[in-house]
Amino acid sequence: MNMGAAQQPQPTLRHDLMTRLAQPRPYDMAIVGGGATGLGVALDAAARGLSVVLVESHDFAKGTSSRATKLVHGGVRYLAQGNIALVREALHERSTLLHNAPHLAQPLPFIMPSYKCWETPFYGAGLVLYDALAGRAGLGKTEFLNRAQTLQALPTARADGLKGGVKYWDGQFNDARLALALARTAAARGALLVNYCRAADLLYECGKVAGLVCEDVETRQSFKVRSRCVINATGVWVDELRQKDGEASQRPTRPMVAPSQGVHMVVEREFLPGRVGLMVPKTADGRVLFAVPWLGKVILGTTDTPRQDLAREPQPFREEVEFILNESARYLRRAPGRADVKSVWVGLRPLVKPQDEDGDNTKGLSREHTVLVSRSGLVTVTGGKWTTYRAMAEDVLQKCFEKNLISRLSTGVTANLLLVGAENFKSPGHSICEPPGLHGYGSEQSAVLALPGAGTELTSGLTEAMIRFAARHEYARTVEDVLARRSRLLFLDARLAGSLAARAGEILLQETGIDPQVEAFSALARDYLHLPE
Ligand SMILES: Cc1cc2nc3c(=O)[nH]c(=O)nc-3n(C[C@H](O)[C@H](O)[C@H](O)COP(=O)(O)OP(=O)(O)OC[C@H]3O[C@@H](n4cnc5c(N)ncnc54)[C@H](O)[C@@H]3O)c2cc1C
Repeated sequence: MNMGAAQQPQPTLRHDLMTRLAQPRPYDMAIVGGGATGLGVALDAAARGLSVVLVESHDFAKGTSSRATKLVHGGVRYLAQGNIALVREALHERSTLLHNAPHLAQPLPFIMPSYKCWETPFYGAGLVLYDALAGRAGLGKTEFLNRAQTLQALPTARADGLKGGVKYWDGQFNDARLALALARTAAARGALLVNYCRAADLLYECGKVAGLVCEDVETRQSFKVRSRCVINATGVWVDELRQKDGEASQRPTRPMVAPSQGVHMVVEREFLPGRVGLMVPKTADGRVLFAVPWLGKVILGTTDTPRQDLAREPQPFREEVEFILNESARYLRRAPGRADVKSVWVGLRPLVKPQDEDGDNTKGLSREHTVLVSRSGLVTVTGGKWTTYRAMAEDVLQKCFEKNLISRLSTGVTANLLLVGAENFKSPGHSICEPPGLHGYGSEQSAVLALPGAGTELTSGLTEAMIRFAARHEYARTVEDVLARRSRLLFLDARLAGSLAARAGEILLQETGIDPQVEAFSALARDYLHLPE
C-alpha cells in the first residue's frame, strides 16, 4: 500500500468559515453552487490567484454531482452523434482527471457483449475510433473478443445467443469524494468555501451584479458578500437565480434548463464479479445502459426521463425501475429482481435549452455546456458532465475575462494540479471496484489513522476516525453528509446506512456540537430502499 508522505489536512471549522464570511472584504469572484461545476470554477480561479468565495445551500455535491454513473468518460454515445470535438475534449479531460486524483479516479475496462452478428464489427469500429481520438490519452487498446473470451471476462453475462464482444477502456470515479477534494484543494489555495449557506439574492451597483446576499442555513444569519463577478453554477437550479436577476434588471428571462432524471440501482457484486464494466450500447428504447462494479457493489443505470419539478431528492418512476431491471435481465445470466436492490438513487441532468435573447451563447460550439453572461453581468454556467468540469471552469474564466469582469490571468493552471490526497501518492494499489476503505484517502491515510477511533469500525471500511476526519477536515455537518457523501454507504446499501445512523450521529455530535439530524437521515435511507409499485 502506498500511503505517500504524511499530509497536514486543513481544518474546516464552521465558526472560522462563518467569521471569514462575515468580514466586509470584496472578492474577485463569488460562486453559487458547490457541485462539480462551481467547485471546478473555484479551484481554477483560486489557482490563478483570484480571491474566491463559494456558497452551497446544502452540502457539497448534494445535487447532481453525487448521483453520476461514476464514469470518467469521453462519451461513446456522443461519438454515435458525430460530436467528435466533444469526445476529443472529454477524452483529454479523462486522462487529466485520472492523473490529478489517482486515489479517486481510475481506468476501468468495459465489455460490450454482442448477441447479433453485426454488433461487434459495427460498435467495435466506433470504439476503435474512440481509441484513435484519445491518442496518447488512451487507457488501453480496444479488443475484439470471441464468445469464450467474452464469457471469461464477464462470467455472469447471458450465454445463450452470445456471439462475442468488444472490450474498451474508460475511467470510473468516486464523484462526491472528488467534489470534496476539489473544495479542499481550492481552500488550500485560499478560497473560502461554505456549505449550508444559501445565496438568497443578488447585490447590484449601477445596474451591475456586485455580490450576493447569503444566509447561513444553520443559524438563519444573513451576510452581504461583495464581489467583482458572480458565477451562477447551481446546476438544474440555475433559473432561480437568473429569474431574480431578470426581475432586478427588469428584463424577463426564459428558463434555460430542461431537467431530465436518471435512475441508478445498486445490487450485490455477485451479479457482475470481476473488474470489468458491462456496456449495452442500445437498449430496447435506444439508450445506453451500464453495469459498473463500484466500491464492492454493482451500479445499474441509467434512465433519461424529463421532469418538471426540481426536487432535492427526486423519486424514481415505476417504469424506470422496471426498465433497468428488464434490460439487465437481457444481459445478465441471473436477473436482478426488486428484492436484490440495495439502494436506488436519482439525479437530475441540467439539459440546456437554446438561448438567444439574453447575453452571449456558447451553444454553437461543439460543447454540451453553456456559459451565459446576462446584461447585468451574472455569469451562468450549466450542462456538461463531471468528466469535463475542469475544461468548463477554464471556459467560465475565459468568459469572465472577455466580459471585463476579471483581468487576464495565465490559463491551464489546473491541468497538472494534484488534488488533495494525490500529493506524493503514486500507486493506488487498490481498485475503486473493491469495497471502500482507508485507501480512498490517498496520501491522507496517515492523518485519518492519527485520529481517535482509527481501529473502531462501524462497518467494514468505515471507522470512527473517518467520521471525525469528515467533521474536522471535510466540512461534514450531518449524518447524511457522512454516510451519503464522505462514506458512500447510503448509495451502496441504504438499509445498512440507516442502521448506522444513530452511532454515526453520536460521534458527529461530539465533534460539531450540533444536531446531526439522525431522524432525517433514517427517513432518507428508507426512501433509498423504496421501489415504486
Ligand atoms: C443520472 C446521471 C448520471 C450521470 N453520469 C455521469 C457520469 O458517469 N460521468 C460524467 O462525467 N457525468 C455524469 N453526469 C453528469 C454530471 O453528474 C453533471 O454534469 C454534474 O454533476 C453537474 O454538476 P453541477 O455542479 O453543474 O450541478 P450540481 O451538482 O447539481 O450542483 C449545483 C449545486 O448548486 C446548489 N445550489 C442551488 N441553488 C443554490 C443557492 N441558491 N445557493 C447556494 N447553492 C445552491 C445545489 O445545492 C447543488 O449542490 C450524470 C448526470 C446524471 C443526472
